[in-house]
Amino acid sequence: MSISDNELYICFTEVIVYFHWILILTMFNIILFGPPGSGKGTQSEKLIAKFGLKHLSTGDLLRSEIAKQTELGLAAKKLMDRGELVPDEVVVGMISSSIDNHPEAKGFLFDGFPRTSAQAQALDILLEQKNASIAVMLALEVSEEELVKRLMKRGETSGRSDDTNETVIRARITEYHNKTAAVADYYQQFNKVVMIEGEGSVDEIFQMLSNEIDNRI
Ligand code: ADP
Repeated sequence: MSISDNELYICFTEVIVYFHWILILTMFNIILFGPPGSGKGTQSEKLIAKFGLKHLSTGDLLRSEIAKQTELGLAAKKLMDRGELVPDEVVVGMISSSIDNHPEAKGFLFDGFPRTSAQAQALDILLEQKNASIAVMLALEVSEEELVKRLMKRGETSGRSDDTNETVIRARITEYHNKTAAVADYYQQFNKVVMIEGEGSVDEIFQMLSNEIDNRI
């Protein structure tokens, strides 16, 4: 019995589809949530190293557009320098391409995204298309005075223009309260939110975050 090229091709595609399904069924996605300065960036670095997730930070993606001086980056910079959010369709578009560009990822850690309820709904749809979902939102809690203190300090070395001016820092925190805090309510309706005390040592906080992931992975 000999197998025709056509049968071989069908068999080959079936194997690819099978592995693709295995991949998406086991994808593990988390959101690291919290106000500006709550430690999302620091903890993300440690978490992706430990759990092998792909880090997707909309702030980093936007800053890379700014560095490349793209039209998108230049438009975003004006808003970022005022402490305002970039339009939903811009960040959702960036996240959508980033997800598509990493088909090998065993899961994503979303950092700084979603930042509005509309972004959260868009993310659910993007993940649904890949038969995936958010496993948990880990929300870091830090007092406002501590946030301002940390961001001003970060501004001394980060080179980020939005970290050097207290008015801009306070505007970002106000945007957080007005538009972003509601994102936690969105995930709370699915019982996916875990609050984590974000003041303490980096290692203590990392341990608490890691425990929550270990319980679910
Ligand atoms: P931080 O958490 O310290 O504010 P980020 O790097 O996450 O830092 O964000 C910097 C800025 O980039 C925000 O103030 C906002 O202007 C813009 N930005 C980042 N992510 C988003 C998003 N998901 N939606 C809208 N704007 C965003």
